[in-house]
Amino acid sequence: MPDTTSPPVLVVGGGPGGLAAAAALRRRGVPAVVLERSEAVAASWRRHYDRLRLHTTRRLSGLPGLTIPRAYGRWVRRDDVIRYLEQYAEHHDLDVRTGAEVEHVERAEDGSCWCVRTTDGEEFGSSTVVVATGFNHTPRLPEWPGRDAWTGELLHAADYRNAGPYTGRDVLVVGSGNTGAEIAVDLAEGGAARVRLAVRTPPHILRRATAGWPSQATGILVRRLPPTLVDRIAPHVERLSVPDLSEYGLARPTTGLYAQVLNGRIPVQDVGLIAAVRSRTVEPVPAVEGFEGEEVLLADGSRINPDTVVVATGYDRGLEGIVGHLGVLDERGRPTVHGPRTPEGAPGLYFTGYTNPISGMFRELAIDARRIARAIARERA
Ligand SMILES: Cc1cc2nc3c(=O)[nH]c(=O)nc-3n(C[C@H](O)[C@H](O)[C@H](O)COP(=O)(O)OP(=O)(O)OC[C@H]3O[C@@H](n4cnc5c(N)ncnc54)[C@H](O)[C@@H]3O)c2cc1C
Repeated sequence: MPDTTSPPVLVVGGGPGGLAAAAALRRRGVPAVVLERSEAVAASWRRHYDRLRLHTTRRLSGLPGLTIPRAYGRWVRRDDVIRYLEQYAEHHDLDVRTGAEVEHVERAEDGSCWCVRTTDGEEFGSSTVVVATGFNHTPRLPEWPGRDAWTGELLHAADYRNAGPYTGRDVLVVGSGNTGAEIAVDLAEGGAARVRLAVRTPPHILRRATAGWPSQATGILVRRLPPTLVDRIAPHVERLSVPDLSEYGLARPTTGLYAQVLNGRIPVQDVGLIAAVRSRTVEPVPAVEGFEGEEVLLADGSRINPDTVVVATGYDRGLEGIVGHLGVLDERGRPTVHGPRTPEGAPGLYFTGYTNPISGMFRELAIDARRIARAIARERA
């Protein structure tokens, strides 16, 4: 039996990763407190754009101890993801303290435990901390030359909700990952006058499902194969399922699918991009190099002048302020270990949600939660 007299495990972040970890701990009899900076759980999902659905299947996205209701359908809507996470916290009777933004995690002077301090100056102590503040934490805006003097409207994809405000406008979406691709389609379908998609590295595009078989299931299977083998097979599969879009300005990728995944880029799940590019309602253009006056400068030397630029170039982890001083981050700001392992010299400090797996993040968060809970329960036995 785990020792229930020690202070509860502190879980930083009330998204799916933190909630799953807290629930898995609870199921093992280990008390946990979730510290969430927002006023409710699932904060990042509340901010996502309206049309978003999980591109991983309902069945393969459930968290430990509660499946996602069948009524939510195979591709769960954003609002239902939020509902599910709310139900999840309630179902497991999780102790979630909202409005608690952690700004610092420090080892106690005598080394006996971790001190977790919030921006309100509140302090919590525990031998065990699980950090789950999210892979998509801090919106990243590239430092393009001339960006700040540009006269048009510029926003990060994190601030995009729907096409409404852009009706009749000329919009450039920068970045061809899942978010950029889907926002471009949303704008084209939602009445923007012109939509261009700036592409630096052509993405791998996969059908979300082929003859009922979800691409996520393939992602789970291929994780067991050597990356070089996957990269040899993938182009053949892609050629069979995705038309060549080169004549529309979107070349086939030259880097391997798995090589891109290892570099942090998961394939784009097609939720309308292929059709939009073929109907030329979304026009691929070269990468953005800078801004000048009213113009945006592209990598091929051309200049365009959209009314709005939506930047979908990703997020940073934002962990430096919280744990950067502990020597537990790599050069890209990601934890050096994740899941049930703890960094050298930082016993009792766990991380979940800082990888971007091809098999689906919810699924990995669920797996990590169980493993982390097992490791902590053993540690506390
Ligand atoms: C647009 C989009 C679509 C996605 N679609 C899928 C999908 O279909 N399938 C899939 O498996 N994955 C998907 N993902 C990836 C991933 O599953 C989600 O991002 C998921 O929400 C990650 O969960 P998390 O708990 O790790 O992080 P988050 O959901 O980001 O939760 C982190 C929580 O920590 C809180 N927090 C942050 N900093 C602090 C702090 N200092 N102190 C206290 N609290 C803090 C935040 O407010 C937030 O509530 C998608 C991601 C994005 C961006």
